[in-house]
Amino acid sequence: MRNAESTTLHSADIGIIGGSGLYEFEGLKDVQKVTLNTPYGAPSDPLVLGKLGDRSVAFLARHGAGHRIAPSDIPARANLYALKYLGVQEVISVGAVGSLRGDIAPGDIVILDQLIDHTRGTRPASFFGDGLVAHVSLADPYCGRVRSTLGRAAAREHPAVHEPGTYCCIEGPQFSTRAESELYRSWGMDVIGMTALPEARLAREAELCYAGLALVTDYDCWHPGHDAVDARSVAEVMASNVDAAQRIVRRYVEQSQPGPCPCHRALDNALLTDSQLVSGAAGEPVPSLLLERVTRVA
Ligand SMILES: [Zn+2]
Repeated sequence: MRNAESTTLHSADIGIIGGSGLYEFEGLKDVQKVTLNTPYGAPSDPLVLGKLGDRSVAFLARHGAGHRIAPSDIPARANLYALKYLGVQEVISVGAVGSLRGDIAPGDIVILDQLIDHTRGTRPASFFGDGLVAHVSLADPYCGRVRSTLGRAAAREHPAVHEPGTYCCIEGPQFSTRAESELYRSWGMDVIGMTALPEARLAREAELCYAGLALVTDYDCWHPGHDAVDARSVAEVMASNVDAAQRIVRRYVEQSQPGPCPCHRALDNALLTDSQLVSGAAGEPVPSLLLERVTRVA
């Protein structure tokens, strides 16, 4: 972390990543905007730190202010690294999705528990490599502990919450063809989006709890009774749902308790590289923040 290595002035324990339509988080007190640079470059936007009750949070607009970063270009490693650097332990990822099921309607909310990666594999998706090999478990990509509290918060703030849900992450930026949409439905997917990956993979590698709050904006293009999705209608539905998303996250922050979680020890049994080589790997591409942890568990 080049700009802030020598200072610990800024910190947060809950990270909020806002997706389409959620570019600012209302209700924060003692707000500070922090511009960071990471070994992976700059995050999507400056991070906005503030207090919600007695918890400190860091908000990050995934697409940048003004929505200028396409899904394939989101600097996910920089984003997760910056949150980790700030001391974040839990990340709530908010995103717009299309529904692949008739009983999940536009305006509804889904608390995610599973993912299918249908991106093209070109997004940098690991902090490891270049001599350090780690295989974290991704069997349950969303943290069960955070998810259950988030689900309760959502149920108090919104009349139509679905839980759990499987998210199919496509590359975009185009929406699906009808044949693709029907294929994903035949796989049993619940919702479709473009941004949950590689975020979830990187959160696990960074030993962060990660939860997904999906805001349903459309029926993709499969529903015979609805027009195929377009970006403008997504934005309109999002605008009406952003308040609910913020209420849910605020309630989550108020009700959640920081605590130990298996997510925080995801690297314990993940490293395969010979420990002699690991301890000699300082200065290699894996950033010091993770290397320190890897060296301890090797
Ligand atoms: Zn967790």
